[in-house]
Amino acid sequence: MDETQARKNLYDVCRLAYARGYICGTEGNFSIRLGDDLLIATAAGTCKGRVEPDQFVVTDMAGQRIESKNYSHWQPSTELAMHLTVYQARPDVRAVAHAHPTVAVGFTVAGVPLTKCVLPEVVCSLGVIPTAPYATPSTSEVSAGIEQLIKQYDAVMLDHHGALTCGADLWQAFHKMETVEHYAQTMLVAHMLGGVKPLYSSQVKTLLSVRSIYGFNNPLPEEFLTGSECSLPDPESAN
Ligand SMILES: [Zn+2]
Repeated sequence: MDETQARKNLYDVCRLAYARGYICGTEGNFSIRLGDDLLIATAAGTCKGRVEPDQFVVTDMAGQRIESKNYSHWQPSTELAMHLTVYQARPDVRAVAHAHPTVAVGFTVAGVPLTKCVLPEVVCSLGVIPTAPYATPSTSEVSAGIEQLIKQYDAVMLDHHGALTCGADLWQAFHKMETVEHYAQTMLVAHMLGGVKPLYSSQVKTLLSVRSIYGFNNPLPEEFLTGSECSLPDPESAN
């Protein structure tokens, strides 16, 4: 992607994520892959709600900043290693978003998993949202925790920390972040109203068989999603 366009997309998504309350202060980080050995990412210590297009940093795929006389005073996000791990595990991914959406993160704080198949659109787009084990932010522990999960899921929760999403472009990654928080809000309401009733296993199976019609082609672990941890047993098989 053209660097000027990437800066515009980062600018738009950063400001929207801040306006939505997915991040506060200088939290959150976003990146776009510019080419085989180049990416552009948010800079460390910047408020994404007041960010400007010249505040993003170009690095190689090892996270080393590419010298630029125009943007030389910005350093890449301290959480860039997590983005690099995603790009390494998923050659199809061209953008990564990391934020701290309050309701979804609240589920990890409460120890309540987001792995129930409840909403058809979420089953088709994300499957479920697994949670990576707790890791100290900005350390290699985070990368180790997400490495396997991100191979199968486009959205992963980081325990007691935040959410990580990826996509073919930054808007896709951002929309998945929206889906994560929207799904968590719906789950919260269901919990308040007496409990979550997941979809039946056969309903999930049907959704997985038609999801490619809606443009979702990333592999999902069908056996897990239709199993008892995520779905309800079909009425006939429950007898
Ligand atoms: Zn974070």
